[in-house]
Amino acid sequence: MAHPYHHSLSSVRKWGGRIEDYQRIHDWFDESKKIIADFRHRALRHHAEGIFMAETIFGSTISLSTGRVIPVRWIGEQHVREDLGFIPSFADWMKAIRPEPWMGRALRMDSEEN
Ligand SMILES: [Zn+2]
Repeated sequence: MAHPYHHSLSSVRKWGGRIEDYQRIHDWFDESKKIIADFRHRALRHHAEGIFMAETIFGSTISLSTGRVIPVRWIGEQHVREDLGFIPSFADWMKAIRPEPWMGRALRMDSEEN
């Protein structure tokens, strides 16, 4: 499993600059390892919607230490492709979730009449 450092090295090879220019973005994609330590952590951010979410957090572009401006979406796309080989949609991940009874359970709300 690629470490955010290695994704950052790959970004430097593609667009120049320094590892620190990219590290916080790659760290964010892999932060979900805090939740589950195996590859399933990728379901949280490694998809098309996750890449767009990165834009809302880091902005649509970053300025490298060289002054070059790079779209954050490019960095997200690079990360997800390097990990999965393609960019899935969140729906692709959802298809792999086995439904459990508790997921569809709903309690009666206080405002409901008997
Ligand atoms: Zn990753």
